[in-house]
Amino acid sequence: MKMEADSGYSSSAELQKQGKKLSHALRISAYVFSTGLLMFTALVNSASWFTQNITLGNFWQTAWLEFYDHMEGDEWTIFLIGAALVPALAFWGFNGILLVADITGKPTFITRYRIQLGKNDPVDTKKLWKAIYTVLGNQFFISFPMLVPMFYIMKWWDSTFSKELPTFQWFLVELSIFTVVEEILFYYSHRLVHHPVLYKHIHKKHHEWTAPIGVVSIYAHPIEHIISNTLPVMTGPMLMGSHIVSISAWFSIALVTTSISHCGYHLPLLPSPEFHDFHHLKYVCALLSFPFSCPSCLCPGTTDRGNSFLRVKWVCLTHTLAEQLST
Ligand SMILES: [Zn+2]
Ligand SMILES: [Zn+2]
Repeated sequence: MKMEADSGYSSSAELQKQGKKLSHALRISAYVFSTGLLMFTALVNSASWFTQNITLGNFWQTAWLEFYDHMEGDEWTIFLIGAALVPALAFWGFNGILLVADITGKPTFITRYRIQLGKNDPVDTKKLWKAIYTVLGNQFFISFPMLVPMFYIMKWWDSTFSKELPTFQWFLVELSIFTVVEEILFYYSHRLVHHPVLYKHIHKKHHEWTAPIGVVSIYAHPIEHIISNTLPVMTGPMLMGSHIVSISAWFSIALVTTSISHCGYHLPLLPSPEFHDFHHLKYVCALLSFPFSCPSCLCPGTTDRGNSFLRVKWVCLTHTLAEQLST
């Protein structure tokens, strides 16, 4: 009996001890979890407050209102600066740096990342000037005039020149929509100009550069420049009734990213342009564009013309993931 009582006593003491341990562990877990949750919430809140109020909200809102007042609310001038001047400066600023590397072979921290070794080392200046004249012609005589109908479409929306800027979150949503719209339209228009009949008369010009450089991203026949370069980028904002500040940022991003995919250098921290470089070299893997394209694979099974947009993107995505996992 004594033993039973002892054992009974000891087991209940054991249970009590375990219970205490459990409640202690639960308290610690609850404390750690709630502290973590609190810190996470605080971090998310302050990050979104920071982006909204400091980096974007107040700063950009104030800057936008100052600019709007400075322009005396002249929507046409604001549109020209936002949709033409800023993106053009982004394009030529970025390509200006790359051109120095293409012409002089310096700085070596850029040229050492050249994809097609021995090509454009240095670039053929006669060929380069021809490309620059065509690019300027495309910008001045096609892209800029196309902004006139776009201006009236944006005016119809009544939100493009609003004094209140969209939120940063909404800008990110719009950016995703613009990218998807651009990807689909570029994919099919690029595929169209690869049709043998159209290729011969239209797209061959863009493919004269088998080792492309940044500036030749918009070196193209006027028809290709309209259907493949300009309309896919303009359509998203026209569908969404976007703010001119969002349009300006999107056009600049689109021009810089297409320059990256043609630049001929796989620069660190920037997306790999190898797939499009290879497309220029071999005229295959034509149906992929930046940024949803696979960075390193050459997409076996994606060059068949019968493939749909989604299939190509899916094959490419799975191929890239498999490559990443195997390394
Ligand atoms: Zn190209
Ligand atoms: Zn092509």
